[in-house]
Amino acid sequence: MVEIIVKKVKAKSFSIRITPDGKAELRVPLRTSRRTVEDVIRRYRPKIEEMARKQQKVAAEFGALPALDEKALASYTKQTRQLLSERLDGFAAQIGVTYHRVSVKKQVSRWGSCSGKGNLKFNCLLSLLPPDVADYIMVHELCHLKQLNHSPAFWAEVARVLPQYRQSERWLKRYGHILLGQLRLSKEERNG
Ligand SMILES: [Zn+2]
Repeated sequence: MVEIIVKKVKAKSFSIRITPDGKAELRVPLRTSRRTVEDVIRRYRPKIEEMARKQQKVAAEFGALPALDEKALASYTKQTRQLLSERLDGFAAQIGVTYHRVSVKKQVSRWGSCSGKGNLKFNCLLSLLPPDVADYIMVHELCHLKQLNHSPAFWAEVARVLPQYRQSERWLKRYGHILLGQLRLSKEERNG
């Protein structure tokens, strides 16, 4: 049986996630009674077990997760900056866009973002991704400088530069959350 850790958080609803070390974390609103928590666990136990099994399978496919202590994160961040300096401008020229600022962040929920002001942010773990996938994230955000949406015109722009981009999308859907989960976990450990 999966170990379930209950965390009371400032939230309005319940949420469940499986941590990279295979435990289930049940987040409940602050004032939830013990009785309600027990009810929820009873009701969702089969679903939680299934989520954990699925994650185990995907994690096994992915292989060993990198350690993400302070030192490792600093090194991945440095490598990500290096990668961006090598690749980003070439893609920007190819797409025909210019960006304002680019930064590297320890964000636990996304790989990249693009603001309306033309600022790009990339996840510090970008350098850990397979090269095709990292390229795809760069191209995706740069294409947002032309189309700040996910319209067919946007995807056509992405496909023009990376015809195989769907493979990278699939990779991210399957494995991306494992790495982000590992990052979240390491952040929480550091913050106590
Ligand atoms: Zn997007």
